[in-house]
Amino acid sequence: MNKFNIDPVLKNDSIFKSGANKKPVIGFDMDGVILDNADAKIKIAKKHGFEIKLHHTPTEIIRTVLPQIILEKLQKVLYGDHPIAMSTPLMRGVRTVLAEVKRRKILYFLISRRKIPEVAVKLLKKRAIWPDYFNFENSFFVAEPVDKDKKAAELGITHYIDDEQKIINILSSVPNKFLFDRFNVFKKTDYYIKIKSWSEFKKHIWK
Ligand SMILES: [Mg+2]
Repeated sequence: MNKFNIDPVLKNDSIFKSGANKKPVIGFDMDGVILDNADAKIKIAKKHGFEIKLHHTPTEIIRTVLPQIILEKLQKVLYGDHPIAMSTPLMRGVRTVLAEVKRRKILYFLISRRKIPEVAVKLLKKRAIWPDYFNFENSFFVAEPVDKDKKAAELGITHYIDDEQKIINILSSVPNKFLFDRFNVFKKTDYYIKIKSWSEFKKHIWK
């Protein structure tokens, strides 16, 4: 600390440009943000006779193109202990961001609505980000969208990244919301910051 009582590491950090005047606390969603399950969705849909494209894969879009019964089957495979699910890669660039967040000693958390956390943990272990980056100390599995906001409030999250507008809309406790819109299918709004990649996120908060 210096005479201005400002942490020198954070003083010049442009994370403050978004209006936060306290040390940032970052919250991450998992599916479609840390994990890239777009190809897995395409594969599963194909098994059921549906040819979908990458831009159809975001959760809020796929719902509009696949019948409910197929969606249920897709989710069962996608979030279960299935070889297709277990081959899900990390989102490009996320490891670099996590390493940077850790290096800057910024607090961060995972808040996911995965119904079977054991499967999620198994996959994160396989991708070598559990327990080094995420573990039971900083990861939370909740049931409903509103529970994400409750958990975010409890943890004092200042910046949250999610790939669903529905979740972003409910996070009233979070001052800086980022919509991870990889395929550029959602509108720009004043309510959230739209990012298409992790390198774009880095530019927003560190450059
Ligand atoms: Mg998600």
